[in-house]
Amino acid sequence: MPKTVVVALGGNAIIQPKQKGTAAEQRENIQTTARQISALVRGGYRVIVTHGNGPQVGNILIQQEEGAGVVPPMPLDVCGAKSQGYLGYMLQQALSNELKAAGLDATAVTIVTQVAVDPQDKAFADPTKPVGPFYTEERARELEAAKGWRMKEDAGRGWRRVVASPDPKRIVEAEAIRAIVRTGAVVIACGGGGIPVHESAAGLSGLEAVIDKDLAGERLAQEVEADILLILTDVEQAAINYRQPGETWLGTITVAEARRYQAEGHFRAGSMGPKMEAAVRFTANGGEFALITSLDKATAALAGRTGTRIVP
Ligand code: ADP
Ligand code: MG
Repeated sequence: MPKTVVVALGGNAIIQPKQKGTAAEQRENIQTTARQISALVRGGYRVIVTHGNGPQVGNILIQQEEGAGVVPPMPLDVCGAKSQGYLGYMLQQALSNELKAAGLDATAVTIVTQVAVDPQDKAFADPTKPVGPFYTEERARELEAAKGWRMKEDAGRGWRRVVASPDPKRIVEAEAIRAIVRTGAVVIACGGGGIPVHESAAGLSGLEAVIDKDLAGERLAQEVEADILLILTDVEQAAINYRQPGETWLGTITVAEARRYQAEGHFRAGSMGPKMEAAVRFTANGGEFALITSLDKATAALAGRTGTRIVP
């Protein structure tokens, strides 16, 4: 049986720091990313790809605001779906081309993915995640009154909307994703952490929140019974005492060691924190191992030559 790996792509796989995010820039980055992923397929892995959408959904939200007088703005869940669609399209096209060039008989397909969250999640009581454009205080107050948004002043840079970042509970389309992976196709799913939805007796409905993409990737990996969770970012390894005296890069560590380092506060919230948490959850819940490394080191890390590996 081929091993199934869920690959969680960091922001730099699609937009590099200082880039504006033009279509051409994103295509070029995605081309490089697709080459790395096709190398995994060539290596015999079944691959599911997930990715962030921060800069992309940020730009879509600016378009909603700037165009609000001309066309109706769409809510955050719909903007998330738009970003899944366009990034999925770019990824699946680049991947299809790479797979074909490598002589592999595999296609790539994108699933618009909903992720159920608990509406009682404590994150909803205190929204902290800034999304979309900066506003003047006047406009911020208007939006607060008109839409019930929560707005916060952001370090002297202007006003911004903040939303909750709840924990992912269930990948709604998991069964379909699993079935497609079995055909040998590369599946792109849960983009941007998935579209947060409330699941009730009445059915599904979208929520104006965002889910961390590494935690959503972990949920996805569990639900498709993946063997490996591969988190690709812009650092080759996680460290303790990161950027401080005594900085030590981590190789293979157990769940217990990782939990101790977490408790000691070595992994920053909003960056390495959720990656380490996702890695720990995946391995603790029966995954073979989780890996945190950089995009260009994916193959080497799977072969055991680098990366931070979280094992039982
Ligand atoms: P991504 O877009 O891949 O999710 P993030 O910026 O969210 O990227 O997370 C990666 C960043 O985490 C690295 O660039 C690094 O600066 C930061 N980081 C924070 N704590 C650590 C740590 N303990 N070890 C390594 N990197 C860390
Ligand atoms: Mg991140």
